[in-house]
Amino acid sequence: MIYENKSVWSDVKSRKPTLWLNPDRLADEEDVTNSLAPHELGVGRARDRFQYFEPLLAALFPELSGSGGVIDSPLLDADPIAEALGLQPEQGRLLVKADHELPVVGSIKARGGAHAVLEFAEGVALAEGVLNGSDWSDLDLDEAKAVFGRYSVCVGSTGNLGLSVGTFAARLGFSATVHMSAAAKLWKKKLLRQRGAKVVEHACDHEGALAAGRESARADARAYFIDDENSVSLLAGYATAGRRLRDQLSRAHIPVDKEHPLFVYIPCGVGGAPAGIALGLHQEFGKAVHCFFVQPVETPCFLIQMLSEKGCHPSVYDFGLSGKTEADGLAVPRASLLAFEVARPLIGGILTAEDQTFFQHLALAHDVQNLKLEPSAASGFSGPLALLAEGAEYLERWGVRSHMANATHVVWTTGGSMVPESEHERFLQEGRRVGSGVKTVRATD
Ligand SMILES: *Cc1c(COP(=O)(O)O)cnc(C)c1O
Repeated sequence: MIYENKSVWSDVKSRKPTLWLNPDRLADEEDVTNSLAPHELGVGRARDRFQYFEPLLAALFPELSGSGGVIDSPLLDADPIAEALGLQPEQGRLLVKADHELPVVGSIKARGGAHAVLEFAEGVALAEGVLNGSDWSDLDLDEAKAVFGRYSVCVGSTGNLGLSVGTFAARLGFSATVHMSAAAKLWKKKLLRQRGAKVVEHACDHEGALAAGRESARADARAYFIDDENSVSLLAGYATAGRRLRDQLSRAHIPVDKEHPLFVYIPCGVGGAPAGIALGLHQEFGKAVHCFFVQPVETPCFLIQMLSEKGCHPSVYDFGLSGKTEADGLAVPRASLLAFEVARPLIGGILTAEDQTFFQHLALAHDVQNLKLEPSAASGFSGPLALLAEGAEYLERWGVRSHMANATHVVWTTGGSMVPESEHERFLQEGRRVGSGVKTVRATD
């Protein structure tokens, strides 16, 4: 072991917020390449696919006409939040990658979900002869929709993935079915139905909803099930964010290299979205980017996976945790093994925090910078302070401790802009009730 990893297991079991540093992060580029080689992930192809679908997306979604069909979010300067959190200038600057504002679905799931649906549509269009060759400008949309209508796309989801897949699939003309767990919010179900998707409710957790979706698709040769736990297509879609962030940073003249390290904090459920993003960022920045995943103390499934023996696939229930969190997108009992394999050699570590802290940061981000987040999306704000307080060994090991004044911390805010006002108001009140709204409540030993 490289790190004195405290007693992370005991922190996990006692629900104590903790920072775990990854001893398996690979330093050598060739080792990383070898480690990822078994997974044919196709990030470049996903980028191309998004690009040739741009005119179609712009035509299908009024929300995308302004961007010419590009699905991306702004990169925001977050000085006011940094100040409110107590991040000092000599500890680096704070930016927000505002995926809570991603168009059409208001969450990070727009990246993965859209890509998985587009890839399937492409396969169908080619197989059915609606598309000849690869010139998408020739596509007759009405004809394509009529053909897509004979196929169905399904997904099992706690909410946001369903919202994304259901929306993109239904708009392209597919019959779209979303299997949702009991915890899924009513407004998401309503919105999906309005958008033409079928919603099937299940009185169980994320895994149960997923299993039900998988099963119903199996019986139907024209059905495509988008598997949140095991989809290369989702992961590749998320990974395309790497190039987008690189372009935004370079337009802002923010360098990223060994002397200017980039730290990225990404909320983690099954791990597909953060692993995809970690992969995409690695392809752009190599070792200069340090990704940290963030999980609730009640559902640290990815952390448990990283701590477990090879071949194990534990759930948070195995350790007496409830699996319950107000952070919808993170309410997942078990990690995706695909995401685990991809993330293991890449990430710097994982931190956990309490729901109360998410609410507090949600309110803070709203009050000082007018961001509209859901609890999951606010979890990344725990990252910079945790790393600075407990990660000295990591910063030393990777040779960046003396470069922190040049560091950039990017908090990835993963969802929230579509949350109904009344619900968001409740989140804000909870956040203001929990704390003064300015100081973080990270437990100190
Ligand atoms: C899904 C989701 C995540 C995490 O993505 P995973 O692929 O499940 O790890 C984070 N935040 C929000 C808002 C989400 O919807």
